[in-house]
Amino acid sequence: MLVSTERAARSVQTAFHAARRAEGQSAWRTPNVFAWDSWVRDRWMESSASELMLLNALQEQTLWLRIIHESRTGLELLHPGRLAAAAQQAYQLLANYSPKTLAGSTRPQWLGDPAMFAEWLREFEKRCRREGVISTSLATQQLAEALQEVPEPSGRPPLLLIGFDHLLESQKTLLDSWGPWHLDQPEPSDRQSHQYFAASDSVAEVATCVRWLRARLKENPDAQLIVVSTDLQARRGELERALLDRPATNGSENAAPDLDFEFSLGVPLAQTSIARSALLLMRWLFEPLSEHEIDWLITSGHCTASQNEEIALAEAMYKLRERGMERPQWSIDDLVDFQLGGKSQAAFPTTFTARLLAARRQLQQTKQSQSPLDWVNLTHRLLESAGWPGHRSISSIAFQTQRRWETVLDTCGSLGFDGTMMDWEEFVSATATALTSTIFAPESTGARIQIMGPFESAGQMADGIWFLGAHDESWPSRGTPNALLPIALQRETAMPHASPLSDWSLANEVTQRLINSADEVIFSYSRHADGIEARPSRLVMQHLGNPTALATDDCATRAPLTEAFEDSSRIPFPHLAVSGGSTPLTNQSMCPFRAFGITRLATFEWEPAEAGLSARQRGQLLHDVLNRVWSGGNRGGISSLEELQQLADLSGFVGTIVRNVIESGANSRRRNSFLSRFPKRYLELEAERLMRLVSEWLAYERERLPFAIEGTEIKSEVTIAGLTFSVRMDRVDTLASGKKLLIDYKSGSDGPTAWASERPDNVQLPLYATFAVNSDLEGLLFGRVRPHDPDFCGRLRDASASLRLGLSPQSALVKNPLTDQQLSYWREVIERLGEEFLAGRAEVDPKDGTKTCDSCHLQAVCRIYEQPAVPISDDTQDAEGSDA
Ligand code: SF4
Repeated sequence: MLVSTERAARSVQTAFHAARRAEGQSAWRTPNVFAWDSWVRDRWMESSASELMLLNALQEQTLWLRIIHESRTGLELLHPGRLAAAAQQAYQLLANYSPKTLAGSTRPQWLGDPAMFAEWLREFEKRCRREGVISTSLATQQLAEALQEVPEPSGRPPLLLIGFDHLLESQKTLLDSWGPWHLDQPEPSDRQSHQYFAASDSVAEVATCVRWLRARLKENPDAQLIVVSTDLQARRGELERALLDRPATNGSENAAPDLDFEFSLGVPLAQTSIARSALLLMRWLFEPLSEHEIDWLITSGHCTASQNEEIALAEAMYKLRERGMERPQWSIDDLVDFQLGGKSQAAFPTTFTARLLAARRQLQQTKQSQSPLDWVNLTHRLLESAGWPGHRSISSIAFQTQRRWETVLDTCGSLGFDGTMMDWEEFVSATATALTSTIFAPESTGARIQIMGPFESAGQMADGIWFLGAHDESWPSRGTPNALLPIALQRETAMPHASPLSDWSLANEVTQRLINSADEVIFSYSRHADGIEARPSRLVMQHLGNPTALATDDCATRAPLTEAFEDSSRIPFPHLAVSGGSTPLTNQSMCPFRAFGITRLATFEWEPAEAGLSARQRGQLLHDVLNRVWSGGNRGGISSLEELQQLADLSGFVGTIVRNVIESGANSRRRNSFLSRFPKRYLELEAERLMRLVSEWLAYERERLPFAIEGTEIKSEVTIAGLTFSVRMDRVDTLASGKKLLIDYKSGSDGPTAWASERPDNVQLPLYATFAVNSDLEGLLFGRVRPHDPDFCGRLRDASASLRLGLSPQSALVKNPLTDQQLSYWREVIERLGEEFLAGRAEVDPKDGTKTCDSCHLQAVCRIYEQPAVPISDDTQDAEGSDA
């Protein structure tokens, strides 16, 4: 028996054995079932009198890649790897559909990209002759010729072909040269029933399909069922959830049984954790890995010797981020050198770094350039030294993945077929290509429900088939012609995807085969796909007529995964003090669950490492510089407007402070220690930027009415609703009137609208104003330190008399003065938020719907997006804008 694919061959064998068991037999002959490609390869090797070597797919792709690299156009190409794959495919298409073109006489007329490919093709053939190798694409043709030359006197055994939707001319020629053969195709039977349904949406379509599966398995627990889906990769999650879902039991104690299903769709081997971790370790030996790759590697468990080591590594990553020491990339040396002092004392476990260093030493002691086979042998040793595949016990699927990884690695060893030597980087890159192009699917466990794409279903028979997603846009599926072959040639020889007609014709053969492959066959589509109205597939209608709407009860909603429960219980906050300054109350205002999640569950979000300073780090530097500016004469700063106005060289004054702050940060292991990882030149540029920004700000402050600095970074403890909050105020000025002015520096467009309403966006300054500065408050201001646009905005009792002269009467500062009523109102709002936090009020209730949630990291915890609708609010700007 000859079957189209390896998977179909396994399926035919399984079905054969099941049928013999069902007949009551206890012993039988194992059938000879071969997948087409391996049968052709084996027969070619048997029949070939020449010394030629058949290239495997990776060798052939590598040969194309080398030719493309070395060609006239190679250096200008952005993605030579993709072009190599396209060239390999183009060659295969020519061999299968237009073998005479390979003779070369017709190719000179090709123009554009095909002309470039013709050049590569000449070189490919030349190198194949020189190295004594041939492409697998030519094996079918060559085998046919060999069989014709040497007829078998006693005749060859007949061949039965199963699972071929379409036989190519080259395949037919080979089969005719072989001898007797027969193509088995499923035949229609009288018992067959076919239907075509239209569902209102994809949820109803999948839910009905799952109900049908359950019903058929209830009737016959041994039934073999197939779900075919277009665009299976994208629908995989949706299908998996629906299949894992149990239907409502209507009060019955007997829950519906779990469905036994498996996907035949594989994934690139490079995406499996075994192969990905091996590849990352191989790369790490010569180049830094990104921080998120290291996070992944640690949590995969494939490079750690014990659970304790895994936890210690995760803790080190946590602490370095806690101290702002994150960085986009880490070399092995960076990891070895990493040390955190102070309370956050942390380093990466020496057992881990020692293994990495040992592996790298082994690599460094090896010759730089050697054969791929030597690299394969070394790779096994290097990975072992690095602790791969880790301490965790291995599942059956992981074991299969590891075996597949070893096979692919061994295949990479064959890249030296032409005597090529390579360095480690080249070898790692070739391994990455091989892993990406290898599709891995675990061995079938013989599940009752098989889920697959339309073309993979060739050779599969079942009791029932449900085809999902049969709408006009997806079936027939549309492909693109090969870009390296002339489109006229592709059309003339009916290559796949050369025209809508060839797509139609292939899909038609698949549709007919599916219709004949089971007693019950159902096609369905949803009228809405991705928010667009979809039409039924004309091809399916040609076979089955117009679709009928799924009856409403067929679409009965599935039991919800979660049971709605109104949780009115509250767990009061058990402590008397709260960390985080005023933030818990701001969070309580924006969404009570956010306050609960951050302050009580202690969740926080990793800040992704950036190549330069992050916005938070820049803000921290700005605050430090302004703090030093207003630190008074003893620390090299100033402390009043008078001293500011007396500065003869403002830029020089600011420059000295900026340099001091940056230098002390770069040499520190504590505050601003993140600066130590940046190169000197980068810090010089950052210093220039800060100097300009702060000088501009101080020039703006020079225009103010008299003030003196009461203090900067003033720490205070305030009690709200019985809770103690530790707060730190950026700056408090004393004005000529003796009253106090609160200032908070911002680099964005924050404004006083953030303090409005019963649910303010930010309670920080109102909280300082009402609880920390008890009396004689003149006002509270945001000092917006922005390039070319410095200003103050906020609330003052009398802006014209306390801030600066000449303010416009239309200025928001003048028009909206601070009043005692306003202060009382803020106090009430903040007291209420404090009481709610203390009482444990933790509803999922975002103030501005998605706008609030977009800036929150708790979506997976609060599951807000599982609620039917999250209100979307307008993205309102701060209405008051610039005030002064
Ligand atoms: S994601 Fe939205 S609903 Fe969830 S905690 Fe954050 S703000 Fe609240």
